[in-house]
Amino acid sequence: MRFEVLFEKNDYALIVRGKDLDEYAIVYKLDKAKGCWANTCSYCNFSEYSNLSQPEALMYALDMFLVKTEENYISRCRLEELATKFKDRLIEDDCEEEFFEQECYMEEHEKDFFELNEERCPCCNGKLEQETYYDDVFEDTSYYNYCTKCDWNDYPEHLKEDAPYNW
Ligand SMILES: [Zn+2]
Repeated sequence: MRFEVLFEKNDYALIVRGKDLDEYAIVYKLDKAKGCWANTCSYCNFSEYSNLSQPEALMYALDMFLVKTEENYISRCRLEELATKFKDRLIEDDCEEEFFEQECYMEEHEKDFFELNEERCPCCNGKLEQETYYDDVFEDTSYYNYCTKCDWNDYPEHLKEDAPYNW
């Protein structure tokens, strides 16, 4: 397979590979003379069929390479997971919206990322999910919200009454 080496450390290498050199990969025990490696730890494709641009793919690949080669490195993935947990706990504890606006200076696309623009459960501030149902009155598929933490939902009252499980 065609490849070029970008970075090497210990037994790991970050390479760009493939016929068109359109995939970053972190490989283990690269043998440059033979042009092969023991195994691929992870890879990130940026071909025209990928939803990642080359810089984005490189960013993820570098992140994965650093996870493998730097002892105390915290990956972007892990930071996102932690930030999401902190955010969820803040919301559960009824953190004021101003905190995100005025102390964190969050922009709209950042709030979208953390789902801060989404409606929350009116009872417990929990995360809402959507489910579709068939509405006999409007004769169309519609959707309702339900809370992932408590029993709250906005399934239409007239259908709740008709529902067979209430008989
Ligand atoms: Zn709820």
